[in-house]
Amino acid sequence: MSTPRIGVLALQGAVAEHARALQAAGAEVSTVRRPTELQGLDGLIVPGGESTTMARLAAPVHLMEAIRERHAEGMAMFGTCAGMILMADQILDAEALTGFERIGGLDVVVRRNGYGSQLDSFTGALPVSGLPEDDLSPLQAVFIRAPVIESVGSAVEVIASWQDRPVAVRQGRVLAASFHPELTPDHRLHQHFVQLAGARLNS
Ligand code: GLN
Repeated sequence: MSTPRIGVLALQGAVAEHARALQAAGAEVSTVRRPTELQGLDGLIVPGGESTTMARLAAPVHLMEAIRERHAEGMAMFGTCAGMILMADQILDAEALTGFERIGGLDVVVRRNGYGSQLDSFTGALPVSGLPEDDLSPLQAVFIRAPVIESVGSAVEVIASWQDRPVAVRQGRVLAASFHPELTPDHRLHQHFVQLAGARLNS
């Protein structure tokens, strides 16, 4: 069985934390700042941080377009918090992103900062479906200026909810979460993503 190669978009945000979690989950990890660094990747994590900053830093090298193209060719994607905003097909309260390329590909509507400001950050314990060994023991989910998932398309599976709202979803080879799974020692979502990204290697 070959080791899945997973990149972490490293323009800004929680890069080192994702890299550590991916390594713990058994992936070969690299950082991505320009399109050529996407070559040969089975999956890419777009971390939390600030979506407007990431979109601005990606623009000069057309990185968002390159990610979209590599995803169309089969690369899996995992967007957390700001990363999910960049993958959502539709975003609300996102004037600051107007005119900037995003990745898209996830059939959801999200509202930026829908869970409030930094001061409204909170942690919730929630079961996630579809994790390795169907382990439903609650995952500690850290929400920081998190986007609200307002609605999901018919091809999108909700794998975790918080107070009756979806907070983690999967659509084919795309995984996304409103929260920060890299900030807690529980790496089950990263394991799930590494398996998802590596699936075609072993098929
Ligand atoms: N509110 C941030 C944004 O719009 C996301 C916050 C986060 O990633 N923790 O990009």
